[in-house]
Amino acid sequence: MALMRLTLGITEAQFENLKECNCGQKMKCVYYCTKQTCPNYRLQTLYCENCKEIKENHDHGHDQITKSCERESKEHSALASLLQDALKILNPIQERFYSLVFILSAFAKANNLELKKDMSADFDKLGKIENQVNTLLKTEKALVVKYDIIELLKLIPEREQLKKELLSLEYLVDLNYEMIEENYEKVFKHQASIRLSSLNNEEDKDFIYYSKIRAIQSQTSQVVIDLKAAFDEERKKNNDEVYKLSQKLLNSNMGQLTLQQKVTQTVNELSSLKQLFEQRENEHRSERQSMERELKTQNELVQSVIEQNKRFQEQLRIQGAECQRLQNQMQSLQNQQIEVKQDQQEMKCALEDIKKTLNGIQMPQSMQIQGGAQSLDSSLSHSTYNDQYGYNL
Ligand SMILES: [Zn+2]
Ligand SMILES: [Zn+2]
Repeated sequence: MALMRLTLGITEAQFENLKECNCGQKMKCVYYCTKQTCPNYRLQTLYCENCKEIKENHDHGHDQITKSCERESKEHSALASLLQDALKILNPIQERFYSLVFILSAFAKANNLELKKDMSADFDKLGKIENQVNTLLKTEKALVVKYDIIELLKLIPEREQLKKELLSLEYLVDLNYEMIEENYEKVFKHQASIRLSSLNNEEDKDFIYYSKIRAIQSQTSQVVIDLKAAFDEERKKNNDEVYKLSQKLLNSNMGQLTLQQKVTQTVNELSSLKQLFEQRENEHRSERQSMERELKTQNELVQSVIEQNKRFQEQLRIQGAECQRLQNQMQSLQNQQIEVKQDQQEMKCALEDIKKTLNGIQMPQSMQIQGGAQSLDSSLSHSTYNDQYGYNL
């Protein structure tokens, strides 16, 4: 027995604390079973050196109770050391900043502001952790004394949780104003004012004051940036609208231009037509004038012809009259001629008679008419006619 105690490296008193094995060999339990699939997991959680030798009892590696307790004890001691170190460092920091972060966190909570870290709560947590660790250490110490490894192992999750929580407060080690300002940004940006009167530290009051100013400035800048962005967006939209409008206007202008061109074209066409019309009109006018002139000339001509005709008619009438007169004269002359002929006949007869008479009477040669009786007759009748009437036909 003493040899075993020496092998385990424990005192006699500690050795006495080890439980007796349930195998009936009056042996101290040196090993423990935590393998749930082990056939003796429930029947023999702790077992002796003899039971260890029987392979079928525990078909797994063998964990020594004293060694595991020692290991666990060290782990708890490590947590205790960690806590002590944390407290040693964080207590002065908490003392320095707690009232400040307390006010800021309270403000955030009152105004439903979400924080990156609740520094005040974290300082509070440190105290809680301290208490929990201390309680855990007490429990652990008692279990270690009794070598109650099974209960001791049950403390592991809580210990690890406390360790984790303690490490989560590590950031507080470097806590400064800059970190506080950054963490409580929303608080400083909030329009409601922070009650400075609850602060005793003048430096903290200044800090809150200047943080607030910086937050407002940044907020203003942000507002300006947002405004500018909104303005830019709006202007872009407006520009788009203006662009669309200008396009419409341009199209409309182009339409108007086209219309104007059409109108101009129509006006030009109309103008050309008008010119043509005027030209035609002028041509017509000159033509009409020339026609009028011609007509006038013709009229005059006709008039003159009429006049001439008149005159001609007159002349004709006169000539007719003359002609009539001449005819009358002719008739008269013919009548006269007839009379003359009758006279000539009578004269001829008379001449014949005379001839006859003369023939009866012997006439000297010198009294004979030259050319005979015939030529005497014709020349006589001719000259007589002319001389008697004075006509030279
Ligand atoms: Zn045994
Ligand atoms: Zn076992």
